[in-house]
Amino acid sequence: MKESTQNLIASLVTLIIGIVALLYGNSINIPSAYRTFLGIPYQVNPQYVSSLSTALIFYALGIFILGVSVGGFSATYSIYRVERQLESIPPPINTQGKLCPYCRTENEIDAVYCKKCGNKSV
Ligand SMILES: [Zn+2]
Repeated sequence: MKESTQNLIASLVTLIIGIVALLYGNSINIPSAYRTFLGIPYQVNPQYVSSLSTALIFYALGIFILGVSVGGFSATYSIYRVERQLESIPPPINTQGKLCPYCRTENEIDAVYCKKCGNKSV
């Protein structure tokens, strides 16, 4: 499997985990903040504090994981684009070298002197 495909799947899984964390944080039932007696608040509801902090933790976690996922997506996409660009670059053209008139050694096309016999190539 290609590395970009693996990264894409990992980003997708991370995305799902982030969404699940957000949904879970959203699903936590937060009771009213105060216990009331005859409509008069007399005590902070401890359930409220724990539910609210749990919900906030899951929200923060979900947003963080979503951020990681989006980062993973964009990084994967950037790498994928660079890879595609690299693939589209044609391989170097095998330039026909020129033959040395003295020893018939093939030299680079822009060579001034033969690499074998040292004579000046035309
Ligand atoms: Zn030569």
